[in-house]
Amino acid sequence: MCQTVFPAHADHRGELSARQLLKWMGATACLAAEKHAGVSCVTASMDDIQFEEAARVGQIITIKAKVNSAFKTNMEVGIKVMVQDVLTNVEKIVVAYATYVAKPVGAGKIELEPVKLLSTEDHLEHSLAIERRRILGYEQVSQNLMQEINKEGTFEEGDAVSTDLTHVQSIELVQPPHANHHGNTFGGQIMAWMETVASISASRLCRSYPTLKSVNMFKFWGPSVVGDRLVFNAVVNNTFQNSVEVGVRVEAYNCEEWMKDQAWHINSTFLIFNAVNDKGELLTFPRIKPTTKDGNRRYHGAIAQRRIQLARKCMLSAKEDKPDPWERSNQAYVSYSNIAALTHRAAKPGWEITSTLDGIKIWILEEGDVLSLRVEMQVKMPSLLAFSLLSDFTFRQKWDRYFLTCEVLQAVNEDEKIYYVTSPPMTGRKPRDFLILVSQRQPCNPSEPYMVAMKSVSLPSVPPSSGYCRSILCAGFQIYSDSSSSCTVCYFNQVTSGVMPYLAANLTGSSKSIEDTALECIKFLELKGSKY
Ligand code: ADP
Repeated sequence: MCQTVFPAHADHRGELSARQLLKWMGATACLAAEKHAGVSCVTASMDDIQFEEAARVGQIITIKAKVNSAFKTNMEVGIKVMVQDVLTNVEKIVVAYATYVAKPVGAGKIELEPVKLLSTEDHLEHSLAIERRRILGYEQVSQNLMQEINKEGTFEEGDAVSTDLTHVQSIELVQPPHANHHGNTFGGQIMAWMETVASISASRLCRSYPTLKSVNMFKFWGPSVVGDRLVFNAVVNNTFQNSVEVGVRVEAYNCEEWMKDQAWHINSTFLIFNAVNDKGELLTFPRIKPTTKDGNRRYHGAIAQRRIQLARKCMLSAKEDKPDPWERSNQAYVSYSNIAALTHRAAKPGWEITSTLDGIKIWILEEGDVLSLRVEMQVKMPSLLAFSLLSDFTFRQKWDRYFLTCEVLQAVNEDEKIYYVTSPPMTGRKPRDFLILVSQRQPCNPSEPYMVAMKSVSLPSVPPSSGYCRSILCAGFQIYSDSSSSCTVCYFNQVTSGVMPYLAANLTGSSKSIEDTALECIKFLELKGSKY
């Protein structure tokens, strides 16, 4: 969808309003979903959205949406928003990535076809969509965190103000322009109304015009159609120096039940705003004090959400040469980014083959100042067995001489484990040690690989010690099935200063240590495999 930003789409500062953008994004996502499903679709949920840049009147907005993955009854739609300046032709990203889940509506039951994956990017997005479904369960994380924060009881009175003045209630009648041709209200329209009410609530606290920075993930719990009355309730839940969290709850009534006061829940979400003064400086919001039991619960809930948001931000901007802290609030994201880093690296174009031996190929990839290594091995054993042997790192010492010791520190769940590994010194220095998160995944269909991703993490309980040089690892295996008794194992490694000397020696031909390790790996797997 391409749109020019006209004054009617803009706020008081001449910037494209978030509510208009949410409407366009919702409509584009829905059209992509309908193109795949062949029937009318509605928004089922929307992932967190971060608004990166503002667009101004006169600029051009391009919204691209694509069905990344179709599950049985719903689809993940990825969406990207760009803004282009007509005069300078400069393009910027407004929303880097948002995902919607859309589902078909109507009387007949429909089973969706899987999406046809044409490009490498399609494959990448498809496997990441499956990963993202795993973190949808993060509500539990926030509830646990909230209980912890409640116990901490971090509440200071001081000059805090009451939130009573920020309570806003508004009502909308759903009319035909707000709905599709089946009469279902557009999800983007409801989100736009929520934003309007929330920004009024926030403005009561800052006495200025708030700008939307992010929206939390939300789900549509119930349907709404033309003729329904939607009641929006909003209140400020908490403030954080330069930002404020406003919560909104939407309920629907139909004309008959309106009198009987029987409403159904449509959705609830939390929106984060900030506000600037005339000079463009961020305003500081006053501290607030909750006055009711619900208010107190939401006050602490907002702190939990804020922690999760920050953890996520930190994850998305994380450099791979630093370990990610392993904390309750970010575990889902760390394991997502572990798998995502491996998936991205494997899908990159530009891998160059540098050496081939019988059954072993070595590739390198140069991107800017980052160098990655891929070692491909043909192994005569079923892929599932290779996967189970390679994902258990306690076996690794048997074939990898760079693993001196290896112990499981935390078995987080079936698919995630944290290991403590020690390794020999590099050129006369101290021995090295690693704290790594190993995430393993089975494929959803046979053409996709098994994955074992590894990434350095940090744990306060295991600080670096003086006897070892704490090192960083970002690597992983992808295991493709070739036949019922053979597979291709690909080992990926981002080359850190620790690995560089081996690689350099290998490239100049003075050492064959990478091939040797690969041969040991194949030997170990095939020997073990012959015993099964
Ligand atoms: P929760 O209370 O767990 O946050 P709700 O769905 O009840 O979940 O509400 C979502 C948000 O909507 C609340 O955090 C609050 O900010 C706002 N809200 C809910 N009910 C009201 C109300 N009656 N008046 C004002 N705001 C409300």
